[in-house]
Amino acid sequence: MEYRTKREDPGRIHPEPEYRYCPKCGSSLVLRILKEGEPARFVCERCSFVFYLDPKVAVGAIVWIDGKILLGRRGIEPAYGKWVFPGGFVDRGETVEEAVVRETREEVNVHVAVRRLLNVYSYPNRPVIIIVYEVEMLGGDPKAGDETLEVGIFAPEEIPWEDLAFPSTRDALRDLIEGPRSGSFPQER
Ligand SMILES: [Zn+2]
Repeated sequence: MEYRTKREDPGRIHPEPEYRYCPKCGSSLVLRILKEGEPARFVCERCSFVFYLDPKVAVGAIVWIDGKILLGRRGIEPAYGKWVFPGGFVDRGETVEEAVVRETREEVNVHVAVRRLLNVYSYPNRPVIIIVYEVEMLGGDPKAGDETLEVGIFAPEEIPWEDLAFPSTRDALRDLIEGPRSGSFPQER
């Protein structure tokens, strides 16, 4: 699914993905302002169902191995071939911690336990919110799994900054390596 965005004024930004039909009754969806100051919503012309475009929640895992960080090279779009820490979307009904453990096992074949929240990352006009944890490796042998071309283990000074997959990858690794800045949030950089 493709997201486009339209900035009407600084306070009202709404995404425009390719949704045309009501998921409940199949009639046409129209964009309508339901509440002043909020983005327009997709509303069904027939049954009045409101199709809210909620953010998507993703997790990322920082796996330390002997003072180095485990990264995988993505085998899928977007950012095919770029480096990222293991992670992915949280399924509905799954806890974020369960998602971290599952995604890390699926992508890099490592069993982990969640230890510390690093930070939460979100960006204007982007649907994904990324929650990044530092995790402890409990077992497994790092190797490329689902959607991953290869794995690599990088010392902080070896991070491939020019070949990272996403802004959140860069920002989280920077937070990790440069340390937490008290009172500093990602959007203030
Ligand atoms: Zn409907």
